Amino acid sequence: MLVVENKLFPCPHCNRPTIHAANRHRIHWVKHLTLTLCTCGCWGFVLVLVILWRMLFGAGGSKWVCTVCGSVK
Ligand SMILES: [Zn+2]
Repeated sequence: MLVVENKLFPCPHCNRPTIHAANRHRIHWVKHLTLTLCTCGCWGFVLVLVILWRMLFGAGGSKWVCTVCGSVK
């Protein structure tokens, strides 16, 4: 599931704290748990791979973009 996350932190271009936005992927736990139950636990292996991938490479999604000047952090 893709969600837009907003955070306030200093922008090097604006020289002041501005709101930054980024797309983030969230694990859809209900979907994964339902699939795990429906596939008699087989989907659990996929879920473990997804969790391992996120631990190694982060949650994914885009970088932080300043909503005032548009610079990418
Ligand atoms: Zn900015």
